[in-house]
Amino acid sequence: MDGCPHCAGVGEDRLWEGATHRVVLVHQDGFPGWCRVIWNTHVGEYTDLSEGERARFMHTVALVEEALRAELKPAKINLASLGTAMPHLHMHIIPRFPDDPTFPDPVWLPPVRATNRALPPQFSDTMRARLAVLDPAG
Ligand SMILES: [Zn+2]
Repeated sequence: MDGCPHCAGVGEDRLWEGATHRVVLVHQDGFPGWCRVIWNTHVGEYTDLSEGERARFMHTVALVEEALRAELKPAKINLASLGTAMPHLHMHIIPRFPDDPTFPDPVWLPPVRATNRALPPQFSDTMRARLAVLDPAG
């Protein structure tokens, strides 16, 4: 759809890409490791997907969450599906740390602190290797 950033997908740092959905690393200051799982076509809601598509999408969300927990040891993982202004199905998987800019409040609130937390070396390569087990048809 014209004007939809998730349809365009320009400038994404893709960690995995399948036929129906993809995983991107979001480079958001203060929130290292923030990932999105994005459905490739312009679908508004999770329940627009078939049962099989829902299962594949959430399987990927879970795999990303497991990988982030293993690699970054966050205090909490936040899962969020928003996209109210431009409905295109995607899920945020956000590792949270006590020193992140809005902890323990939602990441969308104004920051209350700065953080110097950075991703470990080779993080993207490690994530790509962990996600390589996904079925590329999915
Ligand atoms: Zn779209």
